[in-house]
Amino acid sequence: MQSSNGNGTNRRQFLKSATLSGVAIAAGGISVPSASADASQKSLVLAMQGKSSYSILISQAASPSEHQAAGELQRFIEEMSGARLPMITDAQETDRNLVLVGDSKQVRKLGLKIPFDDLAAEGFVLRTQGDYLIIAGGKQRGTMYGVYTFLEKLGCRWFSTEVSVIPRKPTLVISPLNESQKPAFEYREPFFTEAADKDWAARNRVNGSFQRLDESTGGKISYFPFVHSFYTMLPPQQHFQDHPEYYALVDGKRRGDDAQLCLTNPDVLRLAIQTVLKWIDEHPEASIFSVSQNDTRGWCECDNCRRIEQEEGGAHSGPILRFVNAVAAEVGKTHPDKLIDTLAYWYSEPPPLKVRPLPNVRIRLCPIGVCEGHAYDRCVHDRYFLNDLQAWAKITDQLYIWHYVTNFAHYLLPFPDFDELAADLPMYKKHGVVGIFLEGDAAPGGGGENAELRSYVMARLLWNPNMDVDETINEFMAAYYGRAVRAMRAYFDLQHRQVRIPPEGQGHHMWIYTRPGAPYMSQELIAQATKLLAEAESAADDEATRRRVRKARLSIDYVKLMHAKAFAVRDGWYAPENLDQLKENFGGLLKDARSFGITEFHEGRKLEEDEAEFTKYIKPYHVATLENSSLRVMVAPELSGRIISIIDKATGTDVVHHPDPGDHRYPDLSGQCVFAYSDYVLSEPYDAIWKLESQTGPREIHLTGICPNGLQVKHTIRLLVDQPTVHTETTVENTGSSAADTVLNLKCDFDPKHLAESAVIFRNQAGKTMRQAVLPPGEEPSGSQWYTDSDQPDGEWTLTGVETQTAVVNRFPKDQVTRCSLNWTGKAESRVTMGLWSAKRTLAPGETLKLEADYGLSPLKGA
Ligand SMILES: [Zn+2]
Ligand SMILES: [Zn+2]
Repeated sequence: MQSSNGNGTNRRQFLKSATLSGVAIAAGGISVPSASADASQKSLVLAMQGKSSYSILISQAASPSEHQAAGELQRFIEEMSGARLPMITDAQETDRNLVLVGDSKQVRKLGLKIPFDDLAAEGFVLRTQGDYLIIAGGKQRGTMYGVYTFLEKLGCRWFSTEVSVIPRKPTLVISPLNESQKPAFEYREPFFTEAADKDWAARNRVNGSFQRLDESTGGKISYFPFVHSFYTMLPPQQHFQDHPEYYALVDGKRRGDDAQLCLTNPDVLRLAIQTVLKWIDEHPEASIFSVSQNDTRGWCECDNCRRIEQEEGGAHSGPILRFVNAVAAEVGKTHPDKLIDTLAYWYSEPPPLKVRPLPNVRIRLCPIGVCEGHAYDRCVHDRYFLNDLQAWAKITDQLYIWHYVTNFAHYLLPFPDFDELAADLPMYKKHGVVGIFLEGDAAPGGGGENAELRSYVMARLLWNPNMDVDETINEFMAAYYGRAVRAMRAYFDLQHRQVRIPPEGQGHHMWIYTRPGAPYMSQELIAQATKLLAEAESAADDEATRRRVRKARLSIDYVKLMHAKAFAVRDGWYAPENLDQLKENFGGLLKDARSFGITEFHEGRKLEEDEAEFTKYIKPYHVATLENSSLRVMVAPELSGRIISIIDKATGTDVVHHPDPGDHRYPDLSGQCVFAYSDYVLSEPYDAIWKLESQTGPREIHLTGICPNGLQVKHTIRLLVDQPTVHTETTVENTGSSAADTVLNLKCDFDPKHLAESAVIFRNQAGKTMRQAVLPPGEEPSGSQWYTDSDQPDGEWTLTGVETQTAVVNRFPKDQVTRCSLNWTGKAESRVTMGLWSAKRTLAPGETLKLEADYGLSPLKGA
């Protein structure tokens, strides 16, 4: 842009009249009560027909950001009016009129009683007094923010690094001003690649760790390390071998990978304190140090850690916060100005019963499981989080929030959460939250859906959560899309109507990993969006604008491609409908995305990996069909030996869950299949290559899976005669030359069509009837559960809601099954995964392990 970076475009247009009318109106943040304009105040003529009688005065002792601010004021007034105001310091004499930037001898002489202590680092006042204009506040960033706020009052906007509005106003008349502002939140970070630029961040008053702010812009809230620091603090490669007791006891074993620390071991605390003190020495720029759980499960189950959890009402946050407090207490003795950060995230989201965060501790509460389409207090699925927020707010007035503002599995997917943001940021403020991290697409190439608009709106909401979001979007779009604005705003509204609660909209829910096949991405939406985007493209007045429209269009191109990727069975093959066309379109999308600098479609996965995955998985797979009088079952042997469909011939219902084409490793997902693992709590099974061994008649098929370590899995699928039942038998044999730890896992993903009635019901081995609903009222509509020992189903468990009158019953020999696992989601899809796990054996060469199960359709009892 001409106005700030020397590149891009700058729409010079008049947003506001040249004369200011705002008197004592705090446009942002928290307004500090102040007297309104009085008789000593009058309008000032800052520039007249490109000439000015004013100079800009700063103190000889001005801070770096005050110097920067005075320079920016000089520059933008000149861009607007043509008048260049001379710059002087308070050591100089002048008979010119003065704009006083920051505290100075002249400010003191005027006796304005500016409450600098109360304004702290980031607050400021804007005042006119006689012929003076005063912009002064906190030396760190306050005066600087005051200058940008003043320029905004003259109509300046810095929407993105490319698009700014600096209106041309040869005459600048300033109405009487008397206001002060402070930010609503002490820590303000929109986490987008597009929000990292130093000038953009300073001008839009954000101060986050990843913003490239330096001393010249008053620094920032600097973290070290940023998050998930347990293994950074105590690296397992350094300690695990000699001290496995430092690490979490999980499922009876100390684990130095993919788990947490033992937080009640005194040596762990001692080493953690040492490390944090070292971090403080090595990172003087950082003001906040993270002592936080790794991004995985695996909390410690040792007796001491469990006892503390029990004392803390069963909350996993109990041992964490006691540990973090102990670190913070020690650090506070020598470094009272440093903060210690931790997470209330995932399994540690609910607060502890007794322990309270010390004053130098910041909790970052992470609403990772909420519906992002709706304000928390308006969505049935978010009630659980609102409870957690309220409970934390009761025990700390230093709460931070880690809020999610993109779809991390599909950065380009339309993510209509602006209503939600407009409602929930003020709600955070109401609950006493003091800092907010808004996590979006921060991939090296950026390019996330609406990233520029998001960054801009969020920056303003973080300063003042009560600002007018709708008007801000309009302003942004008018500048950003020029003549294409009408169609682009209609496209934006169309998306939001998908989630708005009726009668305003369709009422669909949306989560941060929602798939492109989610109901809100309907064919109708895509058709209308396509039309509007085409309209916008032809309305665009220049090439730069046209490119911005095309970049926005990537979102819809992406969704179309994902939909076209869907596999179906045709003529004995499982494949997308038009593979050649799909390949061409995929290549086209990648080319377009790269032309915008995009490097990732999914968090942490490069486009090259998507290309490799496409080549590996997107191809036709042979399908074998089994059939009896009740069922038609389809098996894709080369797709990990999966059953991909179990169709009830009476109703035509397929009870098996079909994965979304947007899912990682699609279509090698879902259905019924078997895996060999080395242990229970691991994320990856042994690799296996599967093939069809033989088909014996219309009801039986034999498959073999071979693992590189010599484990050979024989899997038979058989339909029982005239019964709606699939029987499976699996035997794994160690054909290798060394022993192998082995657990067999049979699992099936089902698709309950009637989510509200869907539940897994069974009698456990202690004789108690158990029921797990897919949509438990007041809770997150997804979860997972292990059942062991007497909690296990007594040889069978039933899934209801598959059809109205029919359930799926999974039966198994009790002596072959040691654990059962269940996981489910009702988040814009419906899936229930029932898993059976064998005993764990160390198989010597030649030894075998067996697991059988039946999957049967049965009329619902009492139906
Ligand atoms: Zn422990
Ligand atoms: Zn919702």
